[in-house]
Amino acid sequence: MIYQRSSALFVEAQKVIPGGVNSPVRAFKSVGGTPIYAKKAEGAYIYDEDGNKLVDYINSWGPMILGHAHKPVVDAVIDKTKSGTSFGMPTEIETDIAKLAVSMVPNVDKIRFVNSGTEACMSAVRLARGFTGKDKIIKFAGCYHGHSDSFLIQAGSGAITFGEPNSPGVTEGTAKDTLLATYNDLDNVAKTIAANQGEIACIILEPVAGNMGCIPPADGFLEGLRKLCDDNDILLIFDEVMTGFRLAPGGAQELFGIDADIVTFGKVIGGGLPVGAFAARTEIMDYLAPIGPVYQAGTLSGNPLAMAAGLAMLKELDANRNIFNSINEKTAYLHKGLAEALTSENVEHTINRLGSMISIHFSETPVTNFDSAAAASNGNFKKFFHGMLNEGIYIAPSAFETWFISDALTYEDLDFTIEACRKVAKSLL
Ligand SMILES: *Cc1c(COP(=O)(O)O)cnc(C)c1O
Repeated sequence: MIYQRSSALFVEAQKVIPGGVNSPVRAFKSVGGTPIYAKKAEGAYIYDEDGNKLVDYINSWGPMILGHAHKPVVDAVIDKTKSGTSFGMPTEIETDIAKLAVSMVPNVDKIRFVNSGTEACMSAVRLARGFTGKDKIIKFAGCYHGHSDSFLIQAGSGAITFGEPNSPGVTEGTAKDTLLATYNDLDNVAKTIAANQGEIACIILEPVAGNMGCIPPADGFLEGLRKLCDDNDILLIFDEVMTGFRLAPGGAQELFGIDADIVTFGKVIGGGLPVGAFAARTEIMDYLAPIGPVYQAGTLSGNPLAMAAGLAMLKELDANRNIFNSINEKTAYLHKGLAEALTSENVEHTINRLGSMISIHFSETPVTNFDSAAAASNGNFKKFFHGMLNEGIYIAPSAFETWFISDALTYEDLDFTIEACRKVAKSLL
């Protein structure tokens, strides 16, 4: 495959954009090589600037659950654009999408729209702190909740409770209010709570982790967190930016039958436009300005084009609920095929899957938390990534990302992918 034009575009971009990209993972730093420049996309395929056709397993990191350039979404945006692109005034469509979203998601009465998943999670934590009158939060190592200061925290040396900034620019002061726990380890969470009695506002987590590869919650983990929160007056925040409107119409809350206190959204809810949202029961949401004391705002929040794309997407998912079975079945088929291909070439691997989220880890140990995800072979992942790319398959350029299956993928596409995996497996250790 030739990447001449992508290479040239990347050289130009680096002159005026830091690292050539507007979000770091796009730069291919962890796999090496030159990022591919997308030119257009349709259904399951991306066409790059060199004219290569790629089967897409990233799907814009999740939003394109029905494939690229899905007609009802595109038409809704084009239509809306003709009436003006932003007003800074309320519009009817904001209520339309809010009603639909609240009807699809269990256990929430009200929702507020923002412009990204980062904003949604940042605002949800502020709301939790304001509502409970407490400062500290618990997050899990390896879970990603966007790039706001409170979340850019890594495990401190030795101590189980204190985190350290993992980016310059995040202050020690901020870090001391974020406690880091181990995913799928209830004991560790209970100890963290005990060591900070009466100080914890919320526990935030990805109910199915997708930012250290795909890591499903262990049996009883979510139930256990719910109970710890109830027993200690702590709010439970499900970050459903990835899982919302993907694992089920009502996301992980519906799939696992567990109620969170605040839920955050992004990705699918915007249909490919910049949208995030957070939702909760009335008592909590009414703590927000203008009726409550917790401030939160946005010039372009609820933007009509973004709402049109999101509404068209949610309508499709709400009206055709078989989509969720369809993508789950496709992902299970892919799982089986990839596992057979890697096993037949004796490649050590673990495949994690839940619904339409799946990831391959080049390790034979079960991958259940950040440490076990980090222990897998990155050398094999790099070879696998470039091998697959060369066969025309576009997976995430990092071993810590999930593949997102779209309903536009056909069984021929999946067979093509499994065949490519069989070829590439021969080059792996
Ligand atoms: C992508 C993601 C975010 C951040 O969303 P942005 O729109 O990139 O700011 C937050 N949480 C989770 C679980 C995500 O996957």
